[in-house]
Amino acid sequence: MNIVLLGAPGAGKGTQASMIEEKFSLVHISTGDIFRANIKGGTPIGKIAKGYIDAGKLVPDEVTCKIVENRLGEEDVKGGFMLDGFPRNIFQAEQLDKFAKIDVCVNIDVDIDLLMDRICGRRVCACGESYHVSTLNGETKCKKCGGTLYRRDDDNPETVQKRLDTYFKETAPVADYYKKQGKLFTVKSGKGSPKEVFAVIAEKLKEY
Ligand code: AMP
Repeated sequence: MNIVLLGAPGAGKGTQASMIEEKFSLVHISTGDIFRANIKGGTPIGKIAKGYIDAGKLVPDEVTCKIVENRLGEEDVKGGFMLDGFPRNIFQAEQLDKFAKIDVCVNIDVDIDLLMDRICGRRVCACGESYHVSTLNGETKCKKCGGTLYRRDDDNPETVQKRLDTYFKETAPVADYYKKQGKLFTVKSGKGSPKEVFAVIAEKLKEY
């Protein structure tokens, strides 16, 4: 099973991705994580990506598509993969169709007024876990691995607003792209817990 996980920044893609990865043994490919690892490692890709990420813009398609195409050519994804953060515009979706077969696009739909608070209050760990400050009670360590929690550089209000603008302009139409292909599954994630949202997604994914 090959899936695309779609949703605005703050929709809870990362949290759902961890749960889906565990239950369905899919290889989790997050383009945002790939860029952050490249920035940390000071690679040429990292140097290109940083300026765009800090500005809340998309990294150019030619860079991003090549990374994903190369990654999907690797042996470990043959048993199924989950793309998180890709495709982020129609062009990327069209390119993806040229080098992979997608079974379903899971679209996590969250009311816009919840997104800003979710992202600006987000604290993450290098292990991939993510929390909201309101549930941490001052705790600064990850409950899963003990790592120190931090706020992503691009999770500040100014950049978040730009990321949301970019999302609604460029990424939201990707849902329609998959709808036309009969592959879209939208799950509403409002006040429900991540586990409740996951239960709905898991039920759907059992069909594949
Ligand atoms: P994310 O972790 O998915 O929120 O991604 C963080 C940032 O990485 C985004 O705001 C973009 O600047 C960049 N990025 C991630 N995925 C893509 C993509 N598919 N196309 C272009 N830029 C991306």
